[in-house]
Amino acid sequence: ESDAPPLKKFQGDVRVIAQHYNSRPDVGVVQRQDSPIIGLKSFNNWVKSVLITRFAHPVLQQSSLVGFGGRRGGGRGKVLDMGCGKGGDITKWSKAKIKEILCVDIAAVSVDQARGRYEQMNSYFDASFAALDCYTEPLSAAFSPQKLSTPFDVVSMQFCMHYAFETEEKVRCMLDNVSRYMRPGGVFIGTIPNADLLMSQLAAIPEGRELEFGNSVYKIKFEQRTHHSFFGHKYWFYLQDAVDDVPEYVVYWDNFVNMAAEYGLYPTYKEQFHAVFTEHSNMPEFKSLMVRMKVVDANGESTIDEDQWDATNIYNAFAFEKR
Ligand code: SAM
Repeated sequence: ESDAPPLKKFQGDVRVIAQHYNSRPDVGVVQRQDSPIIGLKSFNNWVKSVLITRFAHPVLQQSSLVGFGGRRGGGRGKVLDMGCGKGGDITKWSKAKIKEILCVDIAAVSVDQARGRYEQMNSYFDASFAALDCYTEPLSAAFSPQKLSTPFDVVSMQFCMHYAFETEEKVRCMLDNVSRYMRPGGVFIGTIPNADLLMSQLAAIPEGRELEFGNSVYKIKFEQRTHHSFFGHKYWFYLQDAVDDVPEYVVYWDNFVNMAAEYGLYPTYKEQFHAVFTEHSNMPEFKSLMVRMKVVDANGESTIDEDQWDATNIYNAFAFEKR
């Protein structure tokens, strides 16, 4: 049974977002292969694996949190997965040989599915799950002081941070949750839509037309061409077989970097997904991972068509260091 806050607690866009993610079915790994956008999904997973391997692995290896002996005693380091969804990254964290993970998301149904996925793994690491609006409430509302007493080495926010940019207050709450329990030298990694790309697409739309662009796979529709503030610049996002017209907000990068600095977080990496591909696809480790993750087939042929490939480049991958 879920210990989640009832959905009716949420208002406005937040309710639409939580309801949307709660209602997406958890189709499992096998049926997922039938998705019309399986190429895009596999590629996004590959990018997340690259980020985790490159930025999280080294930091985890230096963690002072070390497990000893026994089946559940192994592993090193502690991770916070904020906006974890259905726990799609839990296998990646298992491969990172962690000691402990805390997973949190506003969508209570998704959190239950993430917990279920972990329980089926019969894993060696510890995991805790909680439903929480991470952009209005502190982590301490969901986890005991004891759970939060050992600092995180890594905080991960995959495809979810942009929902905080509705208001400055929400971004501050989010950044406080990221930074408060992270050790100096820790890393904050994530994936968000690329504001420069969204803005240049928007600027290319002739006057008098609908503020809409996309292709057969995705659609983005703005309500306003320009916005008076760095927060709340809203658009509606549709992604085939994944996201049905959910409200999202532009993450103006420089503003985000300036705010993050107030929380001791400094950028070390920011690239569009296509650039992440160009940079890593010929490295032996990540090349073989592309085959294992079905980004390319056994003959080295891409599984992703042109419209899906264009859709992947909406996103940026980033890393920050805590000082
Ligand atoms: N990180 C997962 C992944 O990469 O598969 C899920 C990504 S999904 C596109 C976005 C997630 O952000 C959803 O699970 C949604 O419920 C979560 N989210 C949105 N607003 C949130 C909030 N205020 N607090 C916590 N999670 C939130």
